[in-house]
Amino acid sequence: MILKGKTALITGSTSGIGAASARALAAMGAAVIVNGFGDELQIARQVADLTEMADAQARYIAADLSDAAQVERLIEGALAEGPVDILVNNAGIQHVAPIDAFPPEMWRKMMAIMIDAPFLLTRALLPGMKAAGWGRIIGMASAHATVASPNKSAYITAKHGLLGMMRTVALEGAQHGVTANCIAPGYVWTPLVENQIPATMKTRGMTRDQVLNDVLLATTPQRKFIMPDQVAAMVAFLCTDAASAITGANLPIDGGWTAQ
Ligand code: NAD
Repeated sequence: MILKGKTALITGSTSGIGAASARALAAMGAAVIVNGFGDELQIARQVADLTEMADAQARYIAADLSDAAQVERLIEGALAEGPVDILVNNAGIQHVAPIDAFPPEMWRKMMAIMIDAPFLLTRALLPGMKAAGWGRIIGMASAHATVASPNKSAYITAKHGLLGMMRTVALEGAQHGVTANCIAPGYVWTPLVENQIPATMKTRGMTRDQVLNDVLLATTPQRKFIMPDQVAAMVAFLCTDAASAITGANLPIDGGWTAQ
């Protein structure tokens, strides 16, 4: 329980990688703040489970991160019970369309969730970490923070940007015990990936199997999806003291994708 007494805010933690990361940090004793959309009863059950795992009260704070006013309310709610020691900028969405048909309002929404919200959260929570002399900020980037694929311009732009932001925070936190890193997963089997299959089938005129094997796994030498717990294990490791010298890094968990 090495995170006993620490508080961790994980955006987008009602599903997928965020939910797995919440479990991993609760298992280390952190009081977890859950955020994201989802069914009220399911979220209540998740919060109860995280509280039991950590033996520390977990909380849920609802906030649509595409709306800056709601991000501010998330910050206020999170800080209401003390400083936040660990911030995982995890929430994200995908939209698949060629850039010449990419809806501008979707572009702005994706930037708000994946760039503006991490900026506002980092800006608000970093001072408390510096004052405590310990903090962890993690950006859930993607292989798409360093390589591109067609039809994902907003996502790829946002992930490249998030990596730049975390690298900058690493430099600003370096003398204060605060590390900032990105994790760069390849294709992780979560609703975010499942939900893009129909649009990719339509855009590329493919069957489901073709999308799975010829698009999604085509870039992955291991030819299999990564599981959320495999990414959460890296989140957990980054929060240990053993990882205190890892900062400004982009850590791939991608089955060999970006080795090519
Ligand atoms: P997911 O769809 O399972 O979970 C996304 C989470 O973000 C959910 O909790 C959802 O409610 C929340 N969310 C979405 N829009 C939000 C908003 N406006 N405000 C607040 N919360 C919002 O997806 P996932 O695959 O677990 O993705 C988590 C992160 O990992 C994302 O940033 C994604 O880009 C990144 N990632 C995923 C993969 C993958 O293959 N699944 C690969 C690389 C990176």
